Amino acid sequence: MISEDIQAVCGELKKAGVDFEDKKVLITGGAGFLGSWISQAVVEQGALVTCIDNLSSGQESNIEELKDRENFTFIQHDISKPIYLEGDYDLVMHLASRASPFEFDKFPIQILKANTLGIWVALGIAKKHKARFLYTSTSEIYGDPDPKYIPTPESYNGNVNPVGPRSCYDESKRAGEAFVKAYELQHGMDTRIVRIFNTYGPKMRAGDVYGRVVPRFIEQALNGKPITVFGDGTQTRSFTYVRDQVEGILRLAWVEEAMGEVVNIGSNVETKVIELAKIIIQLTNSESEIVFHPLPKDDPRRRCPDITKAKNLLNWRPQVSLEEGLRKTIEWFEAGQ
Ligand code: UDP
Repeated sequence: MISEDIQAVCGELKKAGVDFEDKKVLITGGAGFLGSWISQAVVEQGALVTCIDNLSSGQESNIEELKDRENFTFIQHDISKPIYLEGDYDLVMHLASRASPFEFDKFPIQILKANTLGIWVALGIAKKHKARFLYTSTSEIYGDPDPKYIPTPESYNGNVNPVGPRSCYDESKRAGEAFVKAYELQHGMDTRIVRIFNTYGPKMRAGDVYGRVVPRFIEQALNGKPITVFGDGTQTRSFTYVRDQVEGILRLAWVEEAMGEVVNIGSNVETKVIELAKIIIQLTNSESEIVFHPLPKDDPRRRCPDITKAKNLLNWRPQVSLEEGLRKTIEWFEAGQ
């Protein structure tokens, strides 16, 4: 099922003239959920891929099939510590960072390090190798947007609590963006920043401790456990199927005109968390009931990207509906992988 999606991504990219064959690509966080999808797509295209991951939240199982490929190298390393790499790189992609709100109070220092010290190391590698640099930022940098700015354009500067429970992530991602701009300014580097909106799909971690809302609800529904909606469930997210996200990021990494740009990549369909719960119950034929838990502090009320820039600059738009993406994700969890 994953390889079907990878083939679809590669097919779309090929049509668009995006081809990483023979390109030397370094991916930090390459064993994570999104990192491993991106690794697989560019390996499939024939890129020479080096994946760096300290396996703190990334998992070796995510890159199991890639490890035997001769154009894939895995280095277990914490990118917030310096590393010397032989060889050349054309593109460095910095994805390494935990991203689940459940981890913000357990690993805030590691999260801050990955997006400050880690990006510093990654930018240093790109600078040395004169490589293009892509940073995976997040919709979280918008914090809790003023409803006037929904859908949110890249020009919105955000509304973030600098000392709140999510600040280790929000503020370090904002600092990461500043790092990128500083290297671009001072060293004339070719950089790109993607602001990712709630991406889901196969390979996401589940479980009570780590899971984001989609895998949590799916696991709860499949096991007949109560579906834990936080707050009244009217908060929204724009759920983006991983295949669309990978395609958007790789277009951004490739397109010449995108140099120096910051681009939102995410679904433009805003969905209430309560609706998500109901759709998952229906798609899994589950008998689970919905229970309401308190809304975590600073949980953003709404999140929806303005994707005009991605459409115009990258000719990208999301293609997989929420229902289709959830069906695939449910199938993957059902298969117990
Ligand atoms: N959420 C929920 N129940 C859960 C887990 C999350 O209602 O068991 C809500 C959470 O409060 C947020 C949304 O789902 O409003 C998305 O949460 P997620 O952890 O996926 O990431 P976020 O978008 O908040 O970074």
